Amino acid sequence: MAKKTIRDIDIDGKRVLVRADFNVPLRDGKVADDTRIRAALPTIQYLLDHNAKVVLMSHLGRPKGEPKDELKMDPVAETLAERLGKRVKMLDQTVGPEVKRTVEEMAPGDVILLENTRFDPGEKKKDPEFSKQLAALADVFVNDAFGTAHRAHASTVGVAEYVPAVAGFLMERELQMLGDTMNNPKEPLAAILGGAKIIDKIGVLKVLIEKAEYVLIGGGMANTFLQAQGIDVQNSLVDEEALDAAREILAHEAERQSKREEKEPQLYLPVDVVVADEFAPDAEAQVVPADEIPEGWRILDIGPETVQRFRAPLRRSKTIFWNGPMGVFEFDRFAKGTREVAGILAGLRAVTVVGGGDSAAAVAEMGLTKKMTHVSTGGGASLEFVEGKELPGVAAIEDK
Ligand code: ADP
Ligand code: MG
Repeated sequence: MAKKTIRDIDIDGKRVLVRADFNVPLRDGKVADDTRIRAALPTIQYLLDHNAKVVLMSHLGRPKGEPKDELKMDPVAETLAERLGKRVKMLDQTVGPEVKRTVEEMAPGDVILLENTRFDPGEKKKDPEFSKQLAALADVFVNDAFGTAHRAHASTVGVAEYVPAVAGFLMERELQMLGDTMNNPKEPLAAILGGAKIIDKIGVLKVLIEKAEYVLIGGGMANTFLQAQGIDVQNSLVDEEALDAAREILAHEAERQSKREEKEPQLYLPVDVVVADEFAPDAEAQVVPADEIPEGWRILDIGPETVQRFRAPLRRSKTIFWNGPMGVFEFDRFAKGTREVAGILAGLRAVTVVGGGDSAAAVAEMGLTKKMTHVSTGGGASLEFVEGKELPGVAAIEDK
């Protein structure tokens, strides 16, 4: 990897400030899902094993620049202490003289957790004063928060302007896996795109069309393409703003096929879909051809014939990148397309990389996370990375 990691520096006895991604879901004042906390453990453990003083920080939720009782980091400290099997001292401030004093009194092997970085209005503004105060707590800064790497905040970028910055193991793995998928994939590469954030993903789709042998489209993304083909998709979710881009991509595909007499298509759209009479978990559902949507109905999933057609290109691929569920998987009745595609990926030997918060949640819910080569912890960050944008949090890490 081109960036320095915690393996490349001396941390013995040093104060190491770690930006982790502890933005976890809470329920009744407890951590409801500790996936992100567990993901940070290898870095923390390594630092402890190498005799560092570990100062952790993260944002949690959206407190809008002021302290909010329900977004204090205490539940994180509690879960983290359990998982580490070690005392984690929770501070009730992020910076300030008291925090500074506590850090000065730390011994190697101690762990403290600062209060929510977004309690400070300087965090999102990358305020130099706040950044300097954070930097004053550290000899070395470790960024392990890939999920926030697309944001230039004080705790991700600002602090790196004042102390040497390196990547943690989670950051390293994300950059390696996503980097290989985009820049050095085992070919053929297939991309599966779905979900609801259609306009946000058009940039990603354009990049993938250039790089991937096969592009499979489902979810809300597919509706926009069907509409762009002149099909009346009725009450389905469509992004009007993305229609032109969809038409362009369809024209590109038509041209490609005529010019090179390709037998195999690159672009795969649904040939059948599951439609519902309303947007509800208990809506009436039926499978119909993708160009025959009954009046007043809406597409909420891809159909069985479509899953069948997706199978062949996926089987031929050596690398598969998946972003966006194939349907409204939150409703059991419309989760089949997403489940089957996840099942196909889980059964393949190919390198399988899943990006996107909801896609990752769908895979986790099915218990298939371990069957994938990599499930990214970054939603927006992974998309921006795939799109080829430089992530400010990554740019701030020192080059090797
Ligand atoms: P990710 O977080 O994986 O990037 P998105 O946020 O873009 O994915 O989209 C996830 C959402 O897309 C899910 O809540 C799902 O219900 C919704 N979705 C998928 N297919 C459809 C569809 N056909 N109509 C409406 N919503 C859909
Ligand atoms: Mg999402």
